[in-house]
Amino acid sequence: MNIRILQGIIPGIATADGGGVKLRRSLGQSQAHRVDPFLMLDEFSSANADDYIAGFPQHPHRGFETITYMLDGHMLHQDHLGNRGDLKGGGAQWMTAGRGIIHSEMPQQESGRMRGFQLWINLPAKEKMKPASYQDIQPEAMPWLTLADGGSVKLIAGNAEIAGQVYAGAIQGISADALFLDVRLPAGGHFKLPLPYEYNAFVYPYEGQIMIGPQLAQQPLPPQQAGLLSLGDQLEIWAEEQPVAFLLLAGRPLGEQIVQHGPFVMNTQAEIEQAIADYKKGQLV
Ligand code: MN
Repeated sequence: MNIRILQGIIPGIATADGGGVKLRRSLGQSQAHRVDPFLMLDEFSSANADDYIAGFPQHPHRGFETITYMLDGHMLHQDHLGNRGDLKGGGAQWMTAGRGIIHSEMPQQESGRMRGFQLWINLPAKEKMKPASYQDIQPEAMPWLTLADGGSVKLIAGNAEIAGQVYAGAIQGISADALFLDVRLPAGGHFKLPLPYEYNAFVYPYEGQIMIGPQLAQQPLPPQQAGLLSLGDQLEIWAEEQPVAFLLLAGRPLGEQIVQHGPFVMNTQAEIEQAIADYKKGQLV
């Protein structure tokens, strides 16, 4: 049994994107800060409408997939395919940009808390130009389970073996074979999960400090930071005196070259230039 340990930290740094939405970016803050196949993780969290009201007006993507997971608030997704998705607390959306999508993500609230995450997952070279697709998961359709010590797990994407039983997440079919969980532990709680040895994985506590690794040798990870994990076949996370909540991401690495230009993520500079030219000519999608 090889228990994963904390191997590096990418702090979430304050930035803004879209029309001026304030957010915290860990993965993706620079091209050196990625965990293959994961490209970017943004957390947006504010009770001040000025921080989110401008939303993400119409913009393009090519070459990857996104999962947006909401904790609080209400966003509306609209895209060139005619999809219209209401995204509410506890719900998620899965979008495959493929060869191209043009969409907007706009707040449907003028006050109150807006809180959630957007994760970008790379597509393998052979699937970057597949047709775009989109799927909504309403909060009531999100599978979740209660842990023996009172914690809980939301199964957003992929399959997880928890306490000896395999559970299916809401989103199935991410090209990079990604697992995405939202785990909440009470004070003193403990979470154990087998993972394929070679999968890259990181955790992102969004409430409270978590402890990572084998008993008596855990390492602390404060909130709002991505904790990069060593390879290994088991993950163990502990809560101390306070309840904690964290995201867990694991996926099979693609091991391919990445060239990114803003919302376009391809394998070569020529493909990026093609994406820019296609977008300018109205031929991205
Ligand atoms: Mn977008």
